[in-house]
Amino acid sequence: MNTAKPDSGPAGTTTGSTPAPFPTPPLFIAIGRGAVGLCPACGKTRLFTGYLRVAEVCTVCGAPLGEVRADDGPPVFTILIAGAIVVTLLVVMESTMNLSILTEAAILLPLMLIVCLGLLRPIKGGTLGLMLQIGMIKPPTQ
Ligand SMILES: [Zn+2]
Repeated sequence: MNTAKPDSGPAGTTTGSTPAPFPTPPLFIAIGRGAVGLCPACGKTRLFTGYLRVAEVCTVCGAPLGEVRADDGPPVFTILIAGAIVVTLLVVMESTMNLSILTEAAILLPLMLIVCLGLLRPIKGGTLGLMLQIGMIKPPTQ
C-alpha cells in the first residue's frame, strides 16, 4: 500500500489552486483507503475515531479529514445497496419457498439492519476518500 514515490495530483485541480498540503493518491486508491477505514490521503492512520465519527486531522499527513463533509450521501448509498440485496432475497424467498410473512420478516428485517450497519462505515469512508481526492473540502467557517 505504501509506495516509495510521492503521490501526485493536487486536490482541487479544476480550480487551478496551489497543490494540497497533503498527499493526494489516485482516485481509486483514496476510495479504497477510506473504505477500509484508513486516511484516504496517506493510508497510515485511522479515518474514524468512532463508528462514524471522522478524525479532525490526519496526524501523519495533515489531511483535513474533519472538513470533508459527506452529509447524507453515505446513508443514501447504503440504503440503495442494502435495499437491492434484501429485496432480491425477498423475491427469491417468495418465489421458491412457502414461508409466512412473519417468517420472512423475522429473517429479512434483522438482515436489513445487519447489512446497513455493515455497509455504512465503509461507504462513508469511501465517500470521504472520493471527496478528499477531488477537493470537496469545506472549511468550518462556511
Ligand atoms: Zn493521512
